[in-house]
Amino acid sequence: MKAVVYNGPRDVSVNDVPDAKIERPTDVLVRITATNICGSDLHMYEGRTDFETGRTFGHENMGEVIEVGDGVDKVKVGERVVLPFNISCGFCKNCERGFTNYCLTTQPDPAAAGAAYGFAAMGPWAGGQAEMLRVPYGDHNCLRLGEDAQEKENDYVMLSDIFPTGYHATEMAGVVPGDSVVIYGAGPVGLMAALSATIKGAAKVMVVDRHPDRLRLAEQIGAIAVDDSTTDPVQFVLDQTMGLGADRGCECVGYQAHDPQGTEDPVMTLNRLVQSVRFTGGIGVVGVFLPQDPGGPDEMAQQGKVAFDYGLHWFKGQTMGNGQAPVKKYNRQLRDLIAAGKASPSFIVSHNLSLDQAPDAYQNFDERNDGWTKVILKPQQ
Ligand code: NAD
Ligand code: ZN
Repeated sequence: MKAVVYNGPRDVSVNDVPDAKIERPTDVLVRITATNICGSDLHMYEGRTDFETGRTFGHENMGEVIEVGDGVDKVKVGERVVLPFNISCGFCKNCERGFTNYCLTTQPDPAAAGAAYGFAAMGPWAGGQAEMLRVPYGDHNCLRLGEDAQEKENDYVMLSDIFPTGYHATEMAGVVPGDSVVIYGAGPVGLMAALSATIKGAAKVMVVDRHPDRLRLAEQIGAIAVDDSTTDPVQFVLDQTMGLGADRGCECVGYQAHDPQGTEDPVMTLNRLVQSVRFTGGIGVVGVFLPQDPGGPDEMAQQGKVAFDYGLHWFKGQTMGNGQAPVKKYNRQLRDLIAAGKASPSFIVSHNLSLDQAPDAYQNFDERNDGWTKVILKPQQ
């Protein structure tokens, strides 16, 4: 089968690889119909995170079930399913408590937790930017879709990661109706956090970035766009909230954050959040920070350490939640909002491309070229 394979920093190609197949009785085999390129793929694509050459990318996957193992009794051949990027077992200590983002069974490294398709340090699992994908613990890891699965494919595929991830940011921040919310990052994840805050009834949503096309998408869903190349975002938020600061804040950039002048300073977004969220406010950090950042600007950054202003955070009595999103916790409800026509996350989709166009798509998305907001690869086209 064809698959998007990593050859080294900023080098992917579409190669022939061995077909995905059922390996255990609990596996489900899916013919991939839609698979997104994610900002998280760029950590590996750029070489910031080590990824084995020859491995397949792709953790935002959706498709049709074409085969099930003998131990699968819920998911049926022919059904359309969307797959949470977290691969989890459902029965370990963390999964039982709902933390499918930190599954202990599907992650072979005893010093780590959590697994994903096609991801560095997240287990050996192949990615779904391919014609087929093996889904472990298929009954647990497939979310079944209704008859509108194909018609709304560009919406439902967002349930694999970024819609629940954006929602998780707002959950960790504690967004409730009437809140003011500031979101750093208007990439796909930040825009999904903005959509989620709006769904939750936030009174005011402010989204900070510097790419005009992404800021326009934030405005399209009723958020206030803040261009930090021309505006001080902290002062802007204070001005919008009678000097108090926003009730909630979301970090949707991660350790590749930089200032508009190009200075690499990943911690800037965290400190700006601490400064622009009110006393006792909540902050949700879904942008990725890791114990290692080989490409970091100095030794401290390379060890994953950030000069975070904990003193001000403590003084303001703020809360902060962090980490991978537990997709399964939210994707059923978000699926039903899409089905009911009450949420349409596909407004961020800029490109629907064939698998063969992946190398060009990676380059454009990585360079954040104008108009390249979210790419969906369609391997069957
Ligand atoms: P992206 O790179 O497309 O978007 C990031 C955006 O942040 C860009 O538009 C960029 O211009 C902007 N930005 C850079 N520096 C900034 C700053 N200082 N202030 C404000 N905006 C700034 O990526 P994405 O797909 O939207 O993903 C965002 C982050 O979320 C990545 O780190 C990704 O790995 C992470 N992520 C986490 C999870 C999770 O489960 N926690 C899931 C998916 C993605
Ligand atoms: Zn992703």
